[in-house]
Amino acid sequence: MAGNSPARIGVLALQGDVAEHVTMLRSLGADVVEVRLPTDLEGLEGLVLPGGESSVMDKLLRLFTLQEPLRALIRQGLPVLGTCAGLILLADTLEDGIAGQQTLGGLDVSVFRNAFGSQVDSTEVDLSIDGIDGEPMTVALIRAPLITTVGEGVRVIARMPDGGIVGVEQGALIGVSFHPEITGDTRLHRYFLERVAQS
Ligand code: GLN
Repeated sequence: MAGNSPARIGVLALQGDVAEHVTMLRSLGADVVEVRLPTDLEGLEGLVLPGGESSVMDKLLRLFTLQEPLRALIRQGLPVLGTCAGLILLADTLEDGIAGQQTLGGLDVSVFRNAFGSQVDSTEVDLSIDGIDGEPMTVALIRAPLITTVGEGVRVIARMPDGGIVGVEQGALIGVSFHPEITGDTRLHRYFLERVAQS
């Protein structure tokens, strides 16, 4: 962050629950840019990849020529928070993508899509997140992915009550299976903005 000016944070705005992230980040004082074109990436200090449908986002990322510039920014260390489909986009390995589905990569993890059942099986759960103080966070799981393997450099920050991995951090990248943006708890976004300020 330059001086005390608000951090310039992009939210990938091709599809999915963009508005909820934008509202939450603005409420925390960020200067939010909705990213639809490569020019929207200029000057970003952090990026949020929202939930939605990862296979659709993948197609749109390629159509709007965002895939390569985003991969380059991730390689260069841009802080990124990926939630649900956004986590899938950050995963190096996708176990059950649709035919030809690609990811941006960056997180040395494998993910399994729709691991918790269909939309009607969506649920809220209270999770403790390593690095976030206070009460467990109430988060929503909506056709959520499960993180099935993690590489050596990956820190697990959240697990389901049965031990399944649903949150990881590696370098400047944070990926969570759940939606922290729709239950009104701003702590994970705050945590991400602290990471942006430190980078
Ligand atoms: N199942 C979706 C996918 O595969 C993710 C769902 C979500 O982001 N809520 O992309």
